[in-house]
Amino acid sequence: FLEKFSHLNPIDTRTVLPEPINTHVNPASSLVMHFHHFRRTAQQNGTARRSDPEGGQFSFSAEPSLEQIRRLQAEFTEERDWSQFHQPRNLLMALVGEVGEVAELFQWRGEVSEGLPGWSDSDREKVAQELSDVCIYLVELAEKCRVDLPQAVLRKMELNRRKYPASKVHGSAKKYTEYTD
Ligand SMILES: [Mg+2]
Repeated sequence: FLEKFSHLNPIDTRTVLPEPINTHVNPASSLVMHFHHFRRTAQQNGTARRSDPEGGQFSFSAEPSLEQIRRLQAEFTEERDWSQFHQPRNLLMALVGEVGEVAELFQWRGEVSEGLPGWSDSDREKVAQELSDVCIYLVELAEKCRVDLPQAVLRKMELNRRKYPASKVHGSAKKYTEYTD
């Protein structure tokens, strides 16, 4: 791959080479193109949101979907021949470990308000990275357990709605077993 650029000096090579994604991947693959698109969007959104990190309105980007995240992670592990290590129990351990990494960022800070007021950009970025690790392992664990996660979430939310009717539980933090008809 580098031979193509051998006529250039090293500095020029750095400026001409595409970003260092895995060179085994066919760059024409739509998933890789998607990946670059996602990354650009994420960078744009990240910049826009950092300028007003505690502002009221917030929503996620529409992409990548959970299915697209599943595919990106499947490609990542396949390229590294790591699928052999990614059985359900190992993924569960990894997921719990990443939840611990999120907790580490919050420990000893006392109560933290929504929007993380007063947090530095670098601490916000660490939260984004560790929550992403949690999300990636969660999606992969669901895949390995053959759980269609988006549909399972819909089913579970319907159960939650029935378990906690808004009219009955409004403003109360009681567990469902503590409610009587
Ligand atoms: Mg991590």
